[in-house]
Amino acid sequence: MQYLSTRSPQHRVLLGEAIAQGIAPDGGLFVPESFPHFVPHQFDGLTALPDIAERLIAPFAAGDPMIAGELKSICKAAFDFPVPIAPVSDAPAPMWVLELFHGPTSAFKDFGARFLAETLERIRRGAPRKLTILVATSGDTGGAVAAAFHNRPWVDVVVLYPKGLVSERQAQQLACWGGNVRTFAVHGTFDDCQRMVKEAFLDPAIAETHQLSSANSINVGRLLPQMVYYAYAGLELWRQNGRRANFIIPAGNLGNSLACIWARHAGLPIGEIVLATNANQTVTEYLRTGEWEPRPSVPTLASAMDVGNPSNMERLRALHPDFEELQSQIGASSVDDIEIRSTIRRDSHELGQVWCPHTATSAKVFRRLLARGVRGDWVIVSTAHPAKFNDIVEPQIGRKVEIPESLARLLSLPRQEKELEPTLQALRAQLQNP
Ligand SMILES: *Cc1c(COP(=O)(O)O)cnc(C)c1O
Repeated sequence: MQYLSTRSPQHRVLLGEAIAQGIAPDGGLFVPESFPHFVPHQFDGLTALPDIAERLIAPFAAGDPMIAGELKSICKAAFDFPVPIAPVSDAPAPMWVLELFHGPTSAFKDFGARFLAETLERIRRGAPRKLTILVATSGDTGGAVAAAFHNRPWVDVVVLYPKGLVSERQAQQLACWGGNVRTFAVHGTFDDCQRMVKEAFLDPAIAETHQLSSANSINVGRLLPQMVYYAYAGLELWRQNGRRANFIIPAGNLGNSLACIWARHAGLPIGEIVLATNANQTVTEYLRTGEWEPRPSVPTLASAMDVGNPSNMERLRALHPDFEELQSQIGASSVDDIEIRSTIRRDSHELGQVWCPHTATSAKVFRRLLARGVRGDWVIVSTAHPAKFNDIVEPQIGRKVEIPESLARLLSLPRQEKELEPTLQALRAQLQNP
C-alpha cells in the first residue's frame, strides 16, 4: 500500500515514510492510494481490540518492511486499554455510548499517540540521532503525546500550550511528566503555539542541533488506529443484531470523524455518520452551501473542538471530490455553549449519563435527530472523561465527578513547566540551552 499527497499524486511513499514525514513535501496530507474491501466475516473469531486492529491495519501497512512484520506487537502495545460500548437503558430510543476515554490521559487522543509512539520506535530503531517531537496543543493532544513518548530514550518531547486557555486538569496532564518531556506555558493563544512549531520546522539553526518531528493530528499514523474502535464497535453491534450502527462524533479537526468515514469506506458495518460541532461552523456551513470558507476559531466550552479551518477536510474531499457525493456521505449539526450546558444537566438527570462538554455536542445532536423522527441504532462517541472538565461539568450536574485512577495519579504529580514568550527566538533559546 502506498500513500500519496492530497495535492500531488506523483509523490508516493510507504506507511512508515508517511508517518515519519508527517506532512507531504508539497504541504498536502498523506492518504492511502486505495482502500481494502472488508466484509464482516473476515473478522470472525476476533473480539479483542488488538486482534481487530491487526487485521484492519494490515492492508494499510502492506509492503512496508519496517511495520508489516511488527504490526502484531505494535497493536498489542498500543491497544492496551478497554473501549466499552455500553447501551443506555433509559434512552428514549436505541442508544449506545462508545467510551474512548479509558487510556492514560482520559481522552481519545491516546489511541493515535500510542500507536504513533510504538510505530516510530520501530522505524527509528538504530537511527543515529535523537528525535525531538514538537507539539502545539489546545489541551488533549499534548498530554496524550507526552504520556505515549515519556521515558523512551530515543526521543525528546517539547509541548507548547497556551497558558490559561486549557482546563486546570488538562494543564496538569501537560506538565506532570519531566524526564524527556519539557512543557512550556506560552504567553499566547493556540494559534501562536502552532505558528511557533511551524517556524521551528523551517529554522536552519534549530535544524543543525535537532531532528524535529511532529505528532499533530494530520499524521496518518494517528488516523489508522482511530479506525480500529469504529471497526470494533460496528462489528460488536453487527454481531448482536445484524444491523449497521450509526455514529455521532464530536468534531474539531475531523481526525476522529475521518477515521470513521475511512472505516466505513473499508467495508466495516457502519451506517450513518453525523458530525457534531460546537459554535465553530466551518463544516456545517460547507455541507449546507458547498462553499469552503475557513474562519478564525471562536472559543467554546468544548475547547478541543475550537477549530476554524479543519485540516482533515482536505482528506475527505480527496475521497469524495464531487460535493454532492460528499454531502450524501455525512451529516453535521452545530451545538452552542448554552445547549452544551443544558445537555450535560438534562442527560445527567434523565439518562444517568455524565458527558464531557465535547461529548455533550453529540448527545444534543442525538436528541435533535430523534425530534426529526430519525430511527435506527445510534452510538454517541464519547471523546473525553468528564472529570477532565470538572469545572464545566460539576456546576451542571450538582455533584462531584468521580476521578478515574489514571487521572488521579497524574494529578498527584508535581508540575514541571516553564513559561515562554510566543516567539521563535524564545523557543530556539530553550531548545539550544535546556
Ligand atoms: C481533539 C478532541 C476532539 C476533536 O477531535 P478531532 O479529531 O479534532 O475532530 C473532540 N473531543 C475531545 C475531547 C478532543 O480532545
